[in-house]
Amino acid sequence: MPELPEVETVRRSLELHLAGRTITGVEGEAVKLRRPLDPKSLARILVGRRLEAFRRRGKFLLVDLEPEGTILVHLGMSGRLQIAQPSEPRLPHNHLVLLLDDGRELRYADTRRFGLVDWLAPGAEAMDSSLSKLGVEPLDPHIAEILPSLLHARRAPVKALLMDQRLIAGVGNIYAAEALWRARIRPTRAGNRTSLNRLTNLAVAVRGVLTEAVAQGGTTLRDYATPEGGYGYFALELKVYGRQGEPCPSCGSTLRAGVIAGRTTAWCPICQR
Ligand SMILES: [Zn+2]
Repeated sequence: MPELPEVETVRRSLELHLAGRTITGVEGEAVKLRRPLDPKSLARILVGRRLEAFRRRGKFLLVDLEPEGTILVHLGMSGRLQIAQPSEPRLPHNHLVLLLDDGRELRYADTRRFGLVDWLAPGAEAMDSSLSKLGVEPLDPHIAEILPSLLHARRAPVKALLMDQRLIAGVGNIYAAEALWRARIRPTRAGNRTSLNRLTNLAVAVRGVLTEAVAQGGTTLRDYATPEGGYGYFALELKVYGRQGEPCPSCGSTLRAGVIAGRTTAWCPICQR
């Protein structure tokens, strides 16, 4: 599943390769993703508009168009954006294809259909049902000032809080586990029973681990492709995620695992308190 660093990698890649291109056609077939996708009605809106800016909010991509409007994209569990030449065969699940003025195509495929592509008219972004609920941005330079008091006000385990999109946007299971290990906080600890100092360390760790992963082009579990066709790999060394039963990289104790908010997480019983 693409996590925030993968989405940011995709965003940068799209910006590099597609900024300034104009949409000349829209192809695909109507399909029910997280929201219904109807390429025919999108064609009426999108053709003639220019891809102006590429933004990210949590794990959402926002493509700002000229003269107005925004394309909202979420990759869900298996969504994939690909920049391709028309001669390259399309994937079986290429739900949407944007034809561009330089002859290339931007293709969206989503085998498991948990993603979405939607049109946001001017002003719709602020009221969007998904975007308006998102919490603070984990790469926000002020995260260490904003996040600690939000976590400290809640009783749930910090691991569950980190993955609550209404508090902080786009931190998935991998990066929550890694940040907790770095901050030496046990994932089961209640937010309100963790000091503000320690939660500040956690906020710094969240931003740090994500920033490193972005710098390395995203850390992927499966063969998740970047838009130019390259594949991501385990660029960031994971210290605890998926390593239960192995020795802690810091102290050598055996890493333990448990389920918090429905997700398996690993931690060191000695380093993390
Ligand atoms: Zn340890």
